[in-house]
Amino acid sequence: MKVLIADSINQKGIDNLKEYSEVVVQTDITPEELKETINQYDAIVIRSRTKMTKEVIESADNLKIIARAGVGIDNVDLNSATQKGIMVVNTAESTTITVAEHTMGLILAIARKIAIADKSVKENKWEKSKFMGTELRNKTLGVVGMGRIGSQVIKRCKAFEMDALAYDPYLPEEAAKELGIELVDLNRLIKEADFISIHVPLTKETKHLIGEEEFKAMKNGTFIINCSRGGVIDEDALYDALKSGEIAGAGLDVYETEPPVGNKLLELDNLVATPHIAASTNEAQRDAAIIAADEIIEVLKG
Ligand code: NAD
Repeated sequence: MKVLIADSINQKGIDNLKEYSEVVVQTDITPEELKETINQYDAIVIRSRTKMTKEVIESADNLKIIARAGVGIDNVDLNSATQKGIMVVNTAESTTITVAEHTMGLILAIARKIAIADKSVKENKWEKSKFMGTELRNKTLGVVGMGRIGSQVIKRCKAFEMDALAYDPYLPEEAAKELGIELVDLNRLIKEADFISIHVPLTKETKHLIGEEEFKAMKNGTFIINCSRGGVIDEDALYDALKSGEIAGAGLDVYETEPPVGNKLLELDNLVATPHIAASTNEAQRDAAIIAADEIIEVLKG
């Protein structure tokens, strides 16, 4: 068995694969080299750099599995892989805790004005009264999308003594009961939540799920956090809601266009912005490599 590591991954995943298979690490492989050599391999590990195009996949006569160490698989031609009988897997669960923790970071940063207070202190100012914050205890968290990350955010918010509501039309009532949360419709969540955290995939259905109408229905003190995909929130409507004080603040890790160069949202003090780093920790990278290796070993074992 022979495995190609085409993008750099944590060494632990490579070591695990080496116990089972010959491993070639070629993280600077060009598209031409990949097309020429791919038929030697039984499995490939990629991240976002390597493109598994129709052309490459058609040359991959021995390939059994494409493992994406990470989440997005838009760099893989899924139709061609299916036609060729090649399994495509990702490691979605590797980033769950990391993204949930980043969400908590944004919740605290916007509730306690941490980013703007930090900037002020570094400018040698001492503006204590300007940074009056909001306590999390007894506030209601509304999670939109109660999957892997949404559930972990709720778990963490419970430790802060927050109440939780969730909207997820695909989650069975039973599953919600087991998690000890109340499933509600989006309207009720939007009206009642003090903090709204978005954890849905971007689909036709979720594009601009939160727009002008939703912001208008929120309480004035509401904070919104998005660590999923930028397109779920209508950014023009968010800008108006933040600027007019219709809502209190927002924490964003993702944007409709990335990087958000020239985005007017970045001018606002009641917005805390991070550059799509919610999944970026050493632990998540390590777990992605280990999970990708495990998936490959399982398939190659048959
Ligand atoms: P998941 O699949 O476990 O959970 C998504 C949940 O959303 C599911 O429970 C699903 O039922 C629900 N859902 C789908 N459509 C919905 C709708 N229209 N309304 C309400 N709920 C709906 O996914 P996850 O691992 O929890 O990740 C959530 C999202 O976070 C991903 O889709 C991805 O876009 C994003 N993400 C971002 C980063 C980052 O770096 N910022 C990293 C990882 C994941």
